[in-house]
Amino acid sequence: MEIQKVGIIGAGQMGNGIAHVMALANYDVVLADVSQHALDKAIALITKNMARQVSREKITQADMDAAIGRIIPTVTVIDAAATDLVIEAATERETVKQAIFDELQPHLLPHTILTSNTSSISITRLASRTDRPERFMGFHFMNPVPVMQLVELIRGIATDQPTYKACKAVVDRLGKTAASAEDFPAFIVNRILMPMINEAVYTLYEGVGSVQSIDESMKLGANHPMGPLELADFIGLDTCLAIMNVLHDGLADTKYRPCPLLTKYVEAGWLGRKTQRGFYDYRGETPVPTR
Ligand code: NAD
Repeated sequence: MEIQKVGIIGAGQMGNGIAHVMALANYDVVLADVSQHALDKAIALITKNMARQVSREKITQADMDAAIGRIIPTVTVIDAAATDLVIEAATERETVKQAIFDELQPHLLPHTILTSNTSSISITRLASRTDRPERFMGFHFMNPVPVMQLVELIRGIATDQPTYKACKAVVDRLGKTAASAEDFPAFIVNRILMPMINEAVYTLYEGVGSVQSIDESMKLGANHPMGPLELADFIGLDTCLAIMNVLHDGLADTKYRPCPLLTKYVEAGWLGRKTQRGFYDYRGETPVPTR
């Protein structure tokens, strides 16, 4: 089945990046969010990021204009239903995602493939509430979407082969690489990455190192391009905590218990870059460690 029209639900950090790469790959995009502010911000960001690609001669001005023209922003979420492929990229909360799929269902085309960009929630469980578990998959992009090469494709227990193949063809057309993952909590990348970030927060919590020494150690000592705390701020501390909770609950192993300091930052509303404060304070010229 050839995918041409894509509905993206959620125009936050991930949704805007997904719309960006889809539109540049000639897909027609309906970008839906309940917040007009989020949509305005997303379109402004896509425009800014594409303009940077034009200035670096990665794409032409004509490519950019055509791609922007292919994105239809809307606050009416059901507008994204009558498409070939829906990618849900709303807030990482199961009840939010379930409500979105419930709302879309009566308006889907018979062949519409449903996918979720969730970082950790069970694809099988999300799929089981819909009328099409065989046409439901995890479509997990990495942040920032225009830059990162990998997409994890996660089959639920019922996902059929044509659905997998159709999604794999989309990943190929985007010029990205697909990794196939089984549907267990947090899949592959976050199953490995999040416990490392959580351990970095424990290292800070126990006073083994400061924010700066922990990040510097992992950059210079393990050759990571970003320190784990800097990376946590980039991902969003609420997202990191949500994923640790999914690992903890889903695998029932205490080795995944979220660090109390991570919980404290989230309770403070210090969620990282998106709120201008996390393990670093981003309100000035250069980021300043908050501990
Ligand atoms: P975000 O908070 O930046 O954006 C979420 C958006 O969803 C917001 O604009 C919000 O208004 C919108 N939204 C909430 N409820 C909605 C509804 N009912 N209908 C339509 N829109 C709704 O979050 P994000 O970082 O973009 O994450 C989105 C998804 O992508 C999550 O499932 C997350 O786990 C996943 N993800 C995140 C990252 C990351 O690094 N941040 C990486 C990979 C996957």
